[in-house]
Amino acid sequence: MDQEMINPEPIEYVLKRSNRKSLAIEITSDGKVIVRAPMMVPVKEIEQLIEKKRDWIREHQTKQEIRKERDRVLYRGSYKTVCVEEHKSNMLSIELTEESIIIRKPRGFELNVSAYLEHWYRKEAAKAIKESVERHGRQMQVTYGRVAIKDQKTRWGSCSSLGNLNFNYRLIMAPERVLDYVVVHELAHRVHMNHSKAFWDLVGQVMPEYEQCRIWLKEHGSELMI
Ligand SMILES: [Zn+2]
Repeated sequence: MDQEMINPEPIEYVLKRSNRKSLAIEITSDGKVIVRAPMMVPVKEIEQLIEKKRDWIREHQTKQEIRKERDRVLYRGSYKTVCVEEHKSNMLSIELTEESIIIRKPRGFELNVSAYLEHWYRKEAAKAIKESVERHGRQMQVTYGRVAIKDQKTRWGSCSSLGNLNFNYRLIMAPERVLDYVVVHELAHRVHMNHSKAFWDLVGQVMPEYEQCRIWLKEHGSELMI
């Protein structure tokens, strides 16, 4: 039986020569390999070092990949890349594009990106949820008390016996119709304080496709809970 050696995939790298005295390997934040080398070191020696460090390089590249994944967030049902840029203004701002959420900060300003993003999510959630409650409240002709946006770990929404409505700010990560479904669900509790057939019939009247929204929440719920 023939045995075939499978050559491992070659590691691509950028070679930067300078007046330095020793060889060094660096992995950039986007996973590129940079080799810094003294002027006279032969390429063969450089490639031997890369081979020796193969596992270490691959491990670091994988870590950078995972970090990149983590920088993707759900917003209104689609994944966006979070980019942080510096600008001349002394204000913090956020711009939403098709593919990304661009945060702009003053030069040199230390920003806790996830805390700022959460603060922005809460603000956007409050706007979207209140608008949806008003619209569907009118359509369903039901009254309600105060509308609060909360950080609830286990529920999307709730409706008290006094008609006060609470919603999870993470609903802003879900598609618009899913957010609407949770609103319609809580408003329907203003008519039926249970999950009876009459309750689901009412939800279905306002939103015939509510089953799909429930499925979406089941499938993506854990992502929204991070
Ligand atoms: Zn319910």
